[in-house]
Amino acid sequence: MPRNQSRFADRIIHLEPSGIRKVFEIANAHPEYINLSIGEPDFDIPSFLKEEGIRAIREGYNRYTPTRGIPELRQVVADHLDRLGIQFEDLLITAGATGGLLMSILALTDRGDEVLVPDPYFVAYRNIVYMAGAKPVGIDTYPDFQLRADAMEPLITENTRALIINSPNNPTGMVYRRSELKKIIALAEERDIQIISDEVYEPFVYSEEFISLGQLSRHILVVNSFSKSAAMTGWRLGYTSGPAEIIEKMAMLQQYAYASTNSVAQRTALKVFSIDYEPQRRRYEKKRDFCFDRLSKKFQVQKPGGSFYIFPRAPQDDATAFFNLAREKGVLIIPGKDFSKKNTHFRISFAVDDKKLERGIEILLSLV
Ligand code: PLP
Repeated sequence: MPRNQSRFADRIIHLEPSGIRKVFEIANAHPEYINLSIGEPDFDIPSFLKEEGIRAIREGYNRYTPTRGIPELRQVVADHLDRLGIQFEDLLITAGATGGLLMSILALTDRGDEVLVPDPYFVAYRNIVYMAGAKPVGIDTYPDFQLRADAMEPLITENTRALIINSPNNPTGMVYRRSELKKIIALAEERDIQIISDEVYEPFVYSEEFISLGQLSRHILVVNSFSKSAAMTGWRLGYTSGPAEIIEKMAMLQQYAYASTNSVAQRTALKVFSIDYEPQRRRYEKKRDFCFDRLSKKFQVQKPGGSFYIFPRAPQDDATAFFNLAREKGVLIIPGKDFSKKNTHFRISFAVDDKKLERGIEILLSLV
């Protein structure tokens, strides 16, 4: 193939600037707005973890670590995965889930390869696939946002290398059903497609049980992080577990990409699984119930089973028009086009304090 005519590589010319960033800038310029666009928990990390971090710096954990992560943290993560019944051969400590996603796609795909991505999707997926030179192929999950093997099968070609699954889901809040997941895994294994399962919202599951794809098959790459569970988004720490031969290649890529992950974050994370997630989970469950009850009065909306997002349908199927209307009234949401080929829905994050959430939702209802 001829080289593209710009001064930049193919891997960058397909990347799309994130619309979420723009909303972030509006929020910074207008602190008085009710911001329902934020993609991270509204609680701070527990103080005992902050103290662990400070202690780690003082005790001298300030140097390179092994590329795969310090042995103590690898053990702590392995024990956690065992407790959840997740089957794996090996694991890698990564720079957030983003690091795990990037290393797995770089290890598995090349130019001309295709990666199946259920639509709506977390913004990074398509762009990471482009960074590898591969092509994202969307699987439409509207209107109930459940991924089905039947919808996936016709999209498989001889170039399909991987499928990225995210349950609980950002932006829809959906949790996929065990029976359907089994069918999807069977289809992927039959067609030699590697499943990458992004499970960063693991603790935030409400009416349903949390199912890791790693509980259903030992062939899955399970990507996770401490970002959402422990509110450590800024610490950039995560892990990927799965088949040893893939983890080995990911570790090699990581070595040359950024040598190792943050030493202080790794020491701190040794204590992370002693956090009791239940109070925050229950808090978010109440917010989920409140949002669903109120919004379903006027919007078409699916009840989220997990994460801290809800994805209602916009009036006249025009999410940008509704975003602009809401913004004029001082409420920030994210139009669906930032997560989808369609622009018919919008994302609300309910990880905000109750008063703001109630006020924001009432304003949105008043616009319909
Ligand atoms: N995966 C999903 C589904 C997310 O929503 C996010 C962040 O919003 C990430 C991954 C990124 O996680 P991390 O901060 O661990 O890189």
